[in-house]
Amino acid sequence: MAGRPRVGILALQGDVREHARVLAELGAEVALVRRPEELSAVDGLVLPGGESSTIDKLSRAFGMQEPIRRAIAGGMPVFGTCAGLILLADRLEDGIAGQQTFGGLDVTVKRNAFGGQVESFETEIAVDGLNGPPVHAAFIRAPAVTEVGPGARALASLDDGRVVAVEQGPLLGIAFHPEVAGESRFHRRFLAGVAARA
Ligand code: GLN
Repeated sequence: MAGRPRVGILALQGDVREHARVLAELGAEVALVRRPEELSAVDGLVLPGGESSTIDKLSRAFGMQEPIRRAIAGGMPVFGTCAGLILLADRLEDGIAGQQTFGGLDVTVKRNAFGGQVESFETEIAVDGLNGPPVHAAFIRAPAVTEVGPGARALASLDDGRVVAVEQGPLLGIAFHPEVAGESRFHRRFLAGVAARA
């Protein structure tokens, strides 16, 4: 493959535009993905933040669940933030009735893990494998990883020990939103994985 990495953003619901901006700034060719043939045309996929149960329902309505599961099984690099992390989890806690995920990450993720009084906050976290200063991370009705299975690796946790970033081969899932704070290192890491595979 010559030239820029071709990456898609699952554009059924959520903060699609913010990811598109960061990826375009990093030089990627960005496509919005809503149909199986659009997924076939990209080498990597971002699952944005939003409402995981809505994205789940829409992905089934649009016939995207099986194609995305196949792409993940086939080794496509996928980067999920917040709701996107939930969608990548093999196991889900506190999903709505009947809620499904694409899976791929050997983790259990709890939705709205910071719910209650304070639903959103920002903090600095050190992330394994990212050079430079700590990440300024915005948690917006965020999930947390409550169990990391042997297949996955924790990359970052909060002071209370809750895991908020995980990696498993070409899959990267984080509980927070780096794109709202101008943080692009996760997107760079994702694009490097896409370039390596293409
Ligand atoms: N609470 C949302 C969900 O369950 C995730 C929030 C987000 O993506 N910012 O899907």
